[in-house]
Amino acid sequence: MENNEPKTLLEVKQLKQYFPVKKEKLFEAKKYVKAVDDISFTLEKGTTLSIVGESGCGKSTTGRAILRLDEPTEGEVLYQNVDLARLSKKELKKVRGDIQVIFQDPFASLNPRQTIRSMLNEAMEIQQVLDKSKREDRMLELMSLVGLPADALERLPHEFSGGQRQRIGIARALSVNPKIIVCDEAVSALDVSIQAQILNLLKKLQRKFGLTYLFISHDLSVVRHISDRVMVMYLGKIVEIAEKQDLFDNPQHPYTKALLSAIPIPDLDVKREKIQIKGDVPSPIDPPSGCRFHTRCPFADDHCKNVEPELRKVGETNHMVSCHYAEKMLFN
Ligand code: SF4
Repeated sequence: MENNEPKTLLEVKQLKQYFPVKKEKLFEAKKYVKAVDDISFTLEKGTTLSIVGESGCGKSTTGRAILRLDEPTEGEVLYQNVDLARLSKKELKKVRGDIQVIFQDPFASLNPRQTIRSMLNEAMEIQQVLDKSKREDRMLELMSLVGLPADALERLPHEFSGGQRQRIGIARALSVNPKIIVCDEAVSALDVSIQAQILNLLKKLQRKFGLTYLFISHDLSVVRHISDRVMVMYLGKIVEIAEKQDLFDNPQHPYTKALLSAIPIPDLDVKREKIQIKGDVPSPIDPPSGCRFHTRCPFADDHCKNVEPELRKVGETNHMVSCHYAEKMLFN
């Protein structure tokens, strides 16, 4: 009998990403921005895991570590059981094609003086995808896959609208036959109607090619459309991770609840509990003791201030929460 369980394609283990802070005084102790601080999760083949949280929570830093744009401070990023964090440049080049990225600003990620044809050709050349003679057909196929006309190949990035440029970004990622695509705020700069078109395109391509997405976004209403699982981060830590429906229907962490309660509900008959969080996100250089969320959590007590909660399974499903009081329904 065929096993339809999703297979783990990528595993992040105890990842830490610290960045040194420039000293202001000569004899000052060395300080670090703890952008990502000991996180572990898996990414299953053919599925979409979204990472959400406020700016500075560590979601983009996690994406960059997976892409090996930054060298992790500690921990492992296992892709098909190989630790990407420890690969040499030469070894890394071989797997680079497998893990592609689509950035937020399509214009910034495209060379303004390069035609789309030259850009796609260059991407395939670097990754040694296809013989030169077969690339022309592939480029036409890519244009059709992302919903652009064939003559788009001869044009420059500034000749396209924001949504079209994002389609070009997707074509470029697809050109090297990736397994994983990191979508870093990929639709955040687009109008709502264009966002929906790009999300639908990403879903269609996922079904067609069995792609795996790591979808990074600050916008939970966007995440709702594309995810299979959702991971919520706060100040470099995972606070909650669950199947999408479970997380939206039954959030357990007060921070997740606060984020969800900020999404406008179109149906006036539906009432949702509002959780207000006070203040700003504390500095990741010197994060709060115990639970990092305690300075803003309406339910914090002395235990929260002193003891860091573990990320642990709550209930029967694979729903993980990092809060001392998750089971006590304190927040319902
Ligand atoms: Fe709030 Fe305490 Fe739970 Fe942290 S552990 S989220 S401070 S109740």
